[in-house]
This record gives sequence, C-alpha cells and structure tokens, in this order.
Amino acid sequence: MSIALKLAEIRERMAGAARRAGRKPEEIALMAVSKTHPATAILEALAAGQTLFGENRVQEFAGKRDEVASASTQAKVHLIGHLQSNKAAKAVELFDGVDSVDSLKLAERLNEAAERMGKQLDVLIEINVGGEEAKTGLAPTSNELYALLDGRARLSSLTIRGCMTVPPFTEDPEGARGYFRQLRELREGLRARGGLELEELSMGMSHDFEVAIEEGSTCVRVGTAIFGSRSYPAPYEEPAQ
Ligand SMILES: *Cc1c(COP(=O)(O)O)cnc(C)c1O
Repeated sequence: MSIALKLAEIRERMAGAARRAGRKPEEIALMAVSKTHPATAILEALAAGQTLFGENRVQEFAGKRDEVASASTQAKVHLIGHLQSNKAAKAVELFDGVDSVDSLKLAERLNEAAERMGKQLDVLIEINVGGEEAKTGLAPTSNELYALLDGRARLSSLTIRGCMTVPPFTEDPEGARGYFRQLRELREGLRARGGLELEELSMGMSHDFEVAIEEGSTCVRVGTAIFGSRSYPAPYEEPAQ
C-alpha cells in the first residue's frame, strides 16, 4: 500500500476514535514518524498532504533536511528522541520543536541556544509514566519536573506546550490506556498549579493511537503504520545517541 493510502487509512481511524470519544477529529494532529526512512519517504508523505513529521536523531535528520526543505516549505519537523545537552544548539537549528525535553539541564541548554539564535522554540516535556529504568523522561511527580515548570520564567525562549510520553509496551493496546489517562491527569494537575495551559498531549503510536485519542491525545506519533517497519529497533530500546 502506498504512503498516501496508509495516511488516509490512519486519518480515517483517528477520526473514528475521536468520534467514539465525543471529540472533534481536527483537535488531533497526526505526526508522521520518519526516523530510519529516507528523505524520499518524507517527500512522498508531503505530496500526500502530510506536513508534520517526527525524527529521533539530530544527525540522521541533518542528512535529510536539505532535501525536505527544498521540496516544501510546509514541512514541520519535531525531535522526539532523547537529546544530549551538547547537541542542543544543533537541534534548535534543525527542528521546529523538541518534544522530548527530559531534563532541566536540557531545557536550559535549549533555551540558551534558542536565545542566541533569536528563536522561540516549542517544547514538550517527556514524562516516563511507567517509571521504566530504560526509558527517558521525567518522573511524574519529580522535583526536577516542578523545578522545570516553576523555573520557566528563566526559560523565556522556550514555549512549554505540554507533555509527551511513551508508555510501557503491551501487546494489547488497551494496556496503555491507564498510562495515557495518567498523563492526562498529570497535565490537569500541573495546569492547576497555574500559569501554563499545557494544551498538547503527545501520546499514541502505531499500535495504540486510537486508545490514546480516546484518552485525550492531541498528537499521535505514527511511524510503522505509515512508512513500514524499521530495520533497527525503536529508539527507546537503543543506547543513547
Ligand atoms: C519511533 C517512535 C514513534 C513511532 O513508533 P511506531 O510504533 O513506529 O508508530 C513514536 N514516538 C517515539 C518517541 C518514537 O521514537
């Protein structure tokens, strides 16, 4: 099946999940996760009207960026993988947003880099809802999370738009529901502290995006179901870049 057909099918399923949850389909963005796939795959998706993309490595996207930029000015690409602080400047230069801010130090580095470049950078805070050792993300009630949010006045070149999570993998997508709900409830709690809307909830991947939409996702990150399988494992199973 072509990328265009797969995109259409995903959009159809997203709309179905939204309707089941009494939500408007247009409230939920589809991010096409193009990691490990060549720039030509991105171009094919762009031609089918897809504009939002996710990549998980700075170096990898650096190699595709020129081709994508010369094909379309519409593409928006976000970083969704773990970022080492020493690559913050490169990430600010390359990406339209960083959806995987998983430490206060990284937020500070991104802020410094964005300030130097005169750029306002959209970010999401990654939360490790399952508390898994092997996964990145801040713990849901950690002091570091509060420090990041409460210190946002000093992070004025970042716009903190919400939270992102990758829940523990379960064969049955229903297994993720509780974690998605947990992220939404955490967001409500953080919102109640005041000051931040945190309107974005980036959750849901190829095998569980419908459950995520039912639980309030505003952005699903779909890779395999659009571009096919990858020849290396999911990034959260790989050593840090
Ligand atoms: C790879 C990746 C995805 C997409 O996963 P699929 O299962 O291929 O849809 C989503 N989010 C993150 C953070 C990823 O690294």
